[in-house]
Amino acid sequence: IDTLKKPIIEPKVKNLVRADDPEAGTAKATILSLVRNEDIKDIKSAILQMENTFNRKFNYPYTFLNDNEFTEDFKNQIREILPEDRIIRFGTIDPEVWNMPESIDRETYVNATRKLGSEGVGYADRESYHNMCRFYSRSFYKHPLLKDIKYTWRLEPGISLHCDIDYDVFKFMEKNNKLYGYTINVYDSAASVRTLWPRTMKFLKKHPEFINPNGAFKMLKENGQKPENFDVANGYSTCHFWTNFEITDLDFLRSEPYQKYMDFLESQDGFYYERWGDAPVRSVALSLFADKKQIHWFRDIGYYHQPYINCPGSPVGNNRCHNKCSPGKVTPWSDLDIENCQAVWIKYIMTEDELNMY
Ligand code: GDP
Ligand code: MN
Repeated sequence: IDTLKKPIIEPKVKNLVRADDPEAGTAKATILSLVRNEDIKDIKSAILQMENTFNRKFNYPYTFLNDNEFTEDFKNQIREILPEDRIIRFGTIDPEVWNMPESIDRETYVNATRKLGSEGVGYADRESYHNMCRFYSRSFYKHPLLKDIKYTWRLEPGISLHCDIDYDVFKFMEKNNKLYGYTINVYDSAASVRTLWPRTMKFLKKHPEFINPNGAFKMLKENGQKPENFDVANGYSTCHFWTNFEITDLDFLRSEPYQKYMDFLESQDGFYYERWGDAPVRSVALSLFADKKQIHWFRDIGYYHQPYINCPGSPVGNNRCHNKCSPGKVTPWSDLDIENCQAVWIKYIMTEDELNMY
């Protein structure tokens, strides 16, 4: 654990691909952003940070998705801030994929979500948020613009990237055989996922062969600082990868266990009668179906999305980490931060190989 208190600049592996390496920028990858036209200001700010800390060195394409048409103004403003040769794709999402399906009973939805809202579940009564969570859970990786893409780095409006990243993170995923990379782990609002775990158990009874014997089960079952969540969520700790940052091998999402699980969850209606987030859904799937050693904590990536930060603790002012991410500000392994479940990952799940990278 002491090694984790030392600042980190990048993972200690020998196969990092630098900007001047012929392999730099050659992964089948894209930076991916689901946004609305009105998010333009905040997504531009996120893109500029992505460019400054990482992508101006590696030139990965951007893919923007929207349930509405992007306006010419939106597209022009994005093009204006990026180099001319950067590949930029704009796509819309089929309404049949995005919208609440016919099978959902509207009255049941309204009553159920009103109740969840009164219990403090965020966005419970916002239909578009349910659509978004469902889309990021079960559909985004099937979008035609991602057909030839293996890795996506999800970029949200309004985030900050604090530190320079001097290696190709997609190549890092590829060369180190990682399926998923995250920066922050937190507990969820338990009332949003009351039935997710019991339903998942039903699915596993039908498909025990999908369980990976080296899964990150403790992440789901270790209730550490939030025992009350464990009760409300009926046996799930609610610890999840905070998916607003995620670097994903889409082949994992396209695999049979993940897809069958998504079909099953869809049949259980919890994206609407509850407010299952894409984060707990993705995290449960990863913890059950993936080998834990294929999940990587990008401890070195200084990342902020309101209200949490992952700060690698590199010295400020050495041109690597810019202000605001001062060491020790919020350390994700701290037991003091009650919402944080990174300590669980470190104590019970992290493999020797992962630890050696830090
Ligand atoms: P939060 O991080 O949970 O507060 O949720 P956000 O509002 O940041 O939404 C998550 C992501 O989905 C962001 O990238 C948003 O831009 C995007 N998003 C959310 N709702 C919609 C929507 O209705 N349409 C589109 N196109 N994008 C959305
Ligand atoms: Mn967000």
